[in-house]
Amino acid sequence: CGIVGYIGRREATPVLIQGLKRLEYRGYDSFGIATVGSALEVYKKTGRISDGEAGAASLRGSTGIGHTRWATHGEPNDINAHPHMDCRGRIAVVHNGVIENYSELKRQLQERGHIFRSETDTEVIVHLIEEHYDGDLLTAVNATLPYLRGSYAILAIAADTQRIVAARDASPLVLGIGDSEIFAASDMTPLLEYTERVIYLEDGDVADITPDRLDIYHGGRRVERPIELISWCV
Ligand code: GLU
Repeated sequence: CGIVGYIGRREATPVLIQGLKRLEYRGYDSFGIATVGSALEVYKKTGRISDGEAGAASLRGSTGIGHTRWATHGEPNDINAHPHMDCRGRIAVVHNGVIENYSELKRQLQERGHIFRSETDTEVIVHLIEEHYDGDLLTAVNATLPYLRGSYAILAIAADTQRIVAARDASPLVLGIGDSEIFAASDMTPLLEYTERVIYLEDGDVADITPDRLDIYHGGRRVERPIELISWCV
């Protein structure tokens, strides 16, 4: 349903929680965040953000992703809430949309030994990234996307890297450009208090995001997307 991401110099958790609250108007059944500091940590919970945010407050790190879920596959509960992690707890993913071929992918992954924790369609994404991950998150996400049918906006992070890899197809994703910090969200409401400069990703785009550098790829080639100024209409 809603996605936020932060990478920069601040602590990510307060930015993510605030961003998720800005997305509450869209509705949700559960929420969660994951951060990368000295470790990859996840907190996720059914119910309202204001009731669960104290539990999330201990997550440290200046890279993070967050999600408000509107369940499509798997009932609303703590385990099915996003972010989802791979078997070894090295990668975390949030996802908006529906992976239509997830049951086939899940069966294949289980045959190859992957243990699934949730009933979501989303979890196949993180196990596929895990299979292709050897320290380069961008390569692993790029190798995963061709398997996915359906709609997605995805943010992925990994334990040992200050980086977010974002991808979208048929689900919106916008980046907010700050000073040595970059924000990501499914719509611009979470970005408004931090920056006026935004980049709207296009279907098929993959963004490799670090605090000081942003590279956007489409069809394997690096592309330029315009930075637009948010205009205020009052
Ligand atoms: N299909 C995913 C799920 O059910 C994502 C739903 C959403 O966009 O919130 O977990």
